[in-house]
Amino acid sequence: MKTKTKQCEYCSKEFEAVRSDQKYCAPNCKQNAYNERLRGQNENVRDKEQSQQAEFHTNRLLLPVEYSAEQKSMDKQAEILPNEREERLAIDEFLKQLENDTIKRKTDSANKILKNWLQRLLEFDEEKEVPLYKARSLYEDIVRSTSYALYGISKDYKYLPFINNLLIPKVENLHKAIKHSRERHTTLNISSDLKRKFMDILSEID
Ligand SMILES: [Zn+2]
Repeated sequence: MKTKTKQCEYCSKEFEAVRSDQKYCAPNCKQNAYNERLRGQNENVRDKEQSQQAEFHTNRLLLPVEYSAEQKSMDKQAEILPNEREERLAIDEFLKQLENDTIKRKTDSANKILKNWLQRLLEFDEEKEVPLYKARSLYEDIVRSTSYALYGISKDYKYLPFINNLLIPKVENLHKAIKHSRERHTTLNISSDLKRKFMDILSEID
């Protein structure tokens, strides 16, 4: 058998190679060399993974979306603000509507109350002789109105000046006149000017 002197690729010891492709002096060295290659490969894979990861981080840092937290929150605010503005406008609109509805409801209610007062005053005026308790009851309703029947009415209520400046003073006088009366009946004697005013308001309310 022809042999050739070679140097073991693992332990560097000289040996007589039986085959031309023999690289190791002993099976042990072949196994050790194999194990070392395997380790080396694993290390290579690990190195590659690490370098890929590093590249990934670098790329992330370079990406335009990766901006500072401050910028991010500013952008977020800018994004939310228009929505908030819209929401606030919607709420304002809703509250305004609600307020208008409330004003309308209170106005309708005040109109009904005023209409009833004026109609009864005109009826009483026509009757000439009105039972005192009926007149007293109506007068007291009207005089107490701003703290009771018309409580919370808008200061813009159309007939508020009429109620405060004409109706209530007139009714207060009527009330005063019968306060200590021992009669069973009373007479209103409303002036024709005031009656005309009542009629005008009644036609407006209807
Ligand atoms: Zn060897």
